[in-house]
Amino acid sequence: MPIHLSRRQFIASTAGLIAMHPFAVRAQSNQAHLRLMETTDIHVHVFPYDYYGDRPVDTVGLARTAALIEAVRAEAANAMLLDNGDFLQGNPMGDYIAYERGMRDGDMHPVIAAMNTLGFDASTLGNHEFNYGLSFLEKSLAGAAFPVVSANVARRIGASPTDDATWVRPYVIIDRMIADGAGESHPIRVGMIGFVPPQIMNWDRKHLEGNVQARDIVETARAWVPQMREAGADIVVALCHSGIGAAAHEDGMENAAIPLAGVAGIDVILTGHSHLVFPGPDYADTPGVDAEAGTIMGKPGVMAGFWGSHMGLVDLLLERDGSGWRVLSHTSEARPIYRREADRSITKLVESVAPVLASVQQQHDETLAYVRQAVGKTDAPLHSYFALVADDPSVQIVSNAQTWYIAQMMVGTPHEGLPILSAAAPFKAGGRGGPDYYTDVPAGDVAIKNVADLYLYPNTVRAVRITGAQVKDWLERSAGMFNQVTPGAQDAPLLNPDFPSYNFDVMDGVTYRIDLSQPSKFDRDGAVINPDANRIVDLQFDGAPIDPDQEFIVATNNYRASGGGSFPGAMGDTVVFDGPDTNRDVIVRYIVEQGTVSPRADGNWSFAPMPGTSVLFETGPAGARYADAVPGVAIEPAGQSDSGFALFRITL
Ligand code: MN
Ligand code: MG
Repeated sequence: MPIHLSRRQFIASTAGLIAMHPFAVRAQSNQAHLRLMETTDIHVHVFPYDYYGDRPVDTVGLARTAALIEAVRAEAANAMLLDNGDFLQGNPMGDYIAYERGMRDGDMHPVIAAMNTLGFDASTLGNHEFNYGLSFLEKSLAGAAFPVVSANVARRIGASPTDDATWVRPYVIIDRMIADGAGESHPIRVGMIGFVPPQIMNWDRKHLEGNVQARDIVETARAWVPQMREAGADIVVALCHSGIGAAAHEDGMENAAIPLAGVAGIDVILTGHSHLVFPGPDYADTPGVDAEAGTIMGKPGVMAGFWGSHMGLVDLLLERDGSGWRVLSHTSEARPIYRREADRSITKLVESVAPVLASVQQQHDETLAYVRQAVGKTDAPLHSYFALVADDPSVQIVSNAQTWYIAQMMVGTPHEGLPILSAAAPFKAGGRGGPDYYTDVPAGDVAIKNVADLYLYPNTVRAVRITGAQVKDWLERSAGMFNQVTPGAQDAPLLNPDFPSYNFDVMDGVTYRIDLSQPSKFDRDGAVINPDANRIVDLQFDGAPIDPDQEFIVATNNYRASGGGSFPGAMGDTVVFDGPDTNRDVIVRYIVEQGTVSPRADGNWSFAPMPGTSVLFETGPAGARYADAVPGVAIEPAGQSDSGFALFRITL
């Protein structure tokens, strides 16, 4: 049953949000105002809490979105609440349930408990629902007090989509009474059909192969929607866990919302998967959509951000047409739970709804204990004090996890068998963050919250396919981290203060040296300034000089692969794997599955010797205890800097 707040609770949680929609005023006696609310990509975020950072935040949480939902319910006679998928995985509470507590028959998954409390009318499956396997998903869905629909995932594929034995029901038609403009009640039949990217077959191959098959979204819709109409649906809503991508249909496309909106018989498109907001500037200038009016191929559409950041709202003015209803007019909007101010600070716009918090309080508390407790062990300290001057364990573990993951993702693709390299950069490496801004996890237990320290950003993993020549240029671009050093110089400053550490990619899987006597080939922004410069020397793969024509797969992140930092070979056109998993999730999975990790730096890169030359660099004073153990380089203390950093000297 939906929650009902007292008047006082309601005003407290929604102050300032109530405004009558024009359709409510306009509806005539043969017309009705129906409001469809969307949540999408909740990813187990119920509490407004960042479990990696172990602190409350105002940017996430279904308990906050709930305040927006309750506000709409309070002002509208006819409202339905729909979820668009990706609810089961994506934060440490999801991992806690999957990896630690488990789901036995009869167990209630906390995100389902929260959704039941809010009284959802229907939901669909997102790609992440499959991350923990089909049995886990089945047990989780068993607790749902609402129907879950998905038309393009089948236990067994038939001759056409309507012959498929779908994994859950393909659609549902919900019978409701709806109040018209004169206050009279009439029956209405609202159809909901669900879709997921067919890429789940690659992303969760180990769980799905041999158990289910996935079909193209648009092909599936064309077959089922006429059947829904025949079965009596007055209006059809597509719960499309797929983003707004190309306007033209291509078989198997991941982001199919635009061609799906073009399928006859669909009235409303609820989108998601891309973690963006529609209507709004995220989709300005996208062909096939009106990003201000909120239409996709002329039909009302919405995308409600992610992690509870927004509630999507499609308002329909319906008119009775014989015995049924048709859409006369529509509006759509995405309502946020917070506002980002010009100075980047966050202003919360709503308070949490207490019954939603209460529905997962116990699992929230257990998750707090989980993120603070050991989930694996490291037999080497994980620190980044020397990540800019030598191969480093905090970067090594990221590369180890990325390589492990991409090797699995390449199975069964045309890229299987190509050598896999991994690019990763230190994120916490002093600089403007100050002398304490380093990763520093001692050998021994590793907790989930340590992973945030290893991987600062919620990037997703990608892989590119590039040549040996591009590998070298990628590393030349990275080597802009360093100043040019004159042979024989004493205590020359090593690090280029204008070069951000997140652009210092170390490449794992090859060995190389960096010749500091050469100028940088690239300037700070990635433009070639010294075309003949070769800072990267002795670049070897498999014990022999790299073949410039040999092809490699390089594991990296979405930022780099799509042109972030302007790295040669990573300008968006070389991507062969665009995965749904965050680098953080992959690191957690890697640590949990391995039990003990050995992220010992393997010293695969170092500075080329320059006899009689020394350089100075700054790092956090707490790094001193590790200085002797750094592989491939002789580091000695050289005093303090005036800004609280410690100075160290390297004799090249
Ligand atoms: Mn998602
Ligand atoms: Mg290495």
